[in-house]
Amino acid sequence: MSAADLRIVLLGCPGAGKGTQANSLCERYGLAHLATGDIFRGEVAADTALGREVGAYMKRGALVPDEVVNKVVAAKLDTLRGGWLLDGFPRTLPQARELDRCLEGAGHKIDVVLSLQMRPEEVVRRMSGRRSCPACGEVYNVQSRPPKAEGKCDKCGGALVQREDDKEATVRQRLKVYEEMTQPLVAYYRARGALREVDGSRSPDEVAQALLGIVDPIVSSRSGARA
Ligand code: AMP
Repeated sequence: MSAADLRIVLLGCPGAGKGTQANSLCERYGLAHLATGDIFRGEVAADTALGREVGAYMKRGALVPDEVVNKVVAAKLDTLRGGWLLDGFPRTLPQARELDRCLEGAGHKIDVVLSLQMRPEEVVRRMSGRRSCPACGEVYNVQSRPPKAEGKCDKCGGALVQREDDKEATVRQRLKVYEEMTQPLVAYYRARGALREVDGSRSPDEVAQALLGIVDPIVSSRSGARA
């Protein structure tokens, strides 16, 4: 099995830097990046029926119902051939069980679940500084990654905004939802021996290094086993 066949789940509360780390892992190992939050934001922006259904949940920091999310993910997974990384899914125990069921049906399994750990106060501090470009999707942080010109996207010149779900009250609500609904997945995957935890409060480069330190040996052991 090559790196391209890796199947990774990335867990972490809102603001733990999942998106950034997902991008670099996918690039390094040639994985498809499946981010349910991005899929839903795309549907909202395109004002599709699905977008209208999920938009209201997202705005108030609530989870989209499991049946809706599971259907979207199952359809996407069906179209993917090589390895993938799931970012933002599963987020509840029923979603995790449904994922197991889908994978079992296809004769696949998750290679590793990477969990980015962060303290809630650090998350609130980080997320309240977050600004995004509605035109191209680029994300900045007024503290740690400011744009070159204030309020303007470096990439496309678009006017940066604070996403509704990055506002403090919504962030606190999303953290509460994470604690209640998603934190139990840590124990679920730990019990299966698939979980590896990393301190998400360090710099993005340090977190990336820690993640590579976990995934590289998995890839090497695969190539070794094959040789
Ligand atoms: P994210 O960008 O991953 O933080 O997702 C943004 C929002 O999309 C979340 O706050 C939820 O409202 C919704 N969402 C994304 N993924 C899921 C999921 N797996 N289950 C339920 N809701 C989700």
